[in-house]
Amino acid sequence: MRDSNCIFCKISGGEIPSKTIYEDDEFRVILDISPATRGHALIIPREHYANLYEMPEDVAGRVMILAKKMAGHMTELLQCDGFNIVQNNGEAAGQTVFHFHMHLIPRYAGDGNEEKLCWNHLELSAEELEDIFRKLKQ
Ligand code: AMP
Ligand code: ZN
Repeated sequence: MRDSNCIFCKISGGEIPSKTIYEDDEFRVILDISPATRGHALIIPREHYANLYEMPEDVAGRVMILAKKMAGHMTELLQCDGFNIVQNNGEAAGQTVFHFHMHLIPRYAGDGNEEKLCWNHLELSAEELEDIFRKLKQ
């Protein structure tokens, strides 16, 4: 399915040009237009899924396999020191483009992004932690 108002549908379909570093029948990997670091790229499925919740499990599995391949390949070519894989779902989680994408972010020692890719640590009481544990455990 394509969404005619979606910029990533247009990019993955080739209607809008992009700096594509890899593509196959199912995915396109492009350089992010506003990169966090040198080489920041996005895995974009050609099908329109707004987020991870909408994506079928088999596609999600293939996204992760591609992310692993790209991480190895990009690390070798860019000689980066580390790698973040980030994937935002929903406005509350920082998603701004509502077509699933996975961020591939090469990291370099001292690249200045330490704070942006971190989070503050909550101080939860033992009871609060136990409460969450009870909700989540299978
Ligand atoms: P998110 O905040 O997880 O939804 O990430 C959206 C990402 O898409 C941001 O890092 C943007 O810089 C990037 N982005 C938005 N428009 C374009 C575009 N036309 N080409 C490449 N990257 C884009
Ligand atoms: Zn789309």
